[in-house]
Amino acid sequence: MPELPEIEIVKERLKEKIIGEIVKDVKLLKPYILKSVKPHYNKLLGKILNDVQRIGKWIIFSFDEDINLFYHPKLSGYLRLKEVISRDTSFIISFGKTNLLFNETGNKKISEIYIFEGKEDFFKLKKIGIDPLSQDFTKEYIKEKLKKEKRVLYRILIDQSIFPGIGRAYMNEILFEARLSPFKKGFEINDEEISRFYESIKNVLNNAIDEIKKIDEGIEFREKRDFLKIFGKECPFCSSEIKNVFLKDITIYYCPNCQTGGKIYKDRRFSLFLK
Ligand SMILES: [Zn+2]
Repeated sequence: MPELPEIEIVKERLKEKIIGEIVKDVKLLKPYILKSVKPHYNKLLGKILNDVQRIGKWIIFSFDEDINLFYHPKLSGYLRLKEVISRDTSFIISFGKTNLLFNETGNKKISEIYIFEGKEDFFKLKKIGIDPLSQDFTKEYIKEKLKKEKRVLYRILIDQSIFPGIGRAYMNEILFEARLSPFKKGFEINDEEISRFYESIKNVLNNAIDEIKKIDEGIEFREKRDFLKIFGKECPFCSSEIKNVFLKDITIYYCPNCQTGGKIYKDRRFSLFLK
């Protein structure tokens, strides 16, 4: 699934390519993708695209008269600027010379579009926290969110109502860079650790954006993440072997020396037998 850095790049490139364009046609080919009813998608006709923004993993297209289209690619949604549609295409906004295609591969059709007048209805519907790249994302915000939090850090960090845009890949890297145990509970984090956590979130995401920018000019969600350190064989800081543990629905990568005080975690699937 694309996460904040991949989506940020696509947003930037869409801004360069289609802002100021007028909507000439709109087609809903596969109704599953459109989750809102009012206003009708035909309301986009004749409107100018004024801005493209991002919050978390959502891309927001803002048109005249404050009509906004909110798009989430989920697992395998992707965008294309092309004249020709493909069998993956669910929704089309035509700007005349080029079409913005909302596509999705695979059988699981879960990518989403909402169209609203204004933005309030959307944010009432979806609980989305402060975007980690926004200026309002501060150490105080993290402290406030973590102080009563009984869940472990790896769960909190992928909660979109607190850290929107962060998913499994960057979660592992952020905790590693911050030298924090993924298994530590939110309320157990002290001020010094919050500082490390905050710096790591900013550094990991900004560094990823810089790395992905080097790849090409397209609007692909590039999930080539070989620049992430936690998915290597050994820790670049202490040369210990990086361990991983599979827990229900998520794989956690960590350096036992730098993050967990030497503690090794066992897969929950097998833990009954290993005890
Ligand atoms: Zn290490």
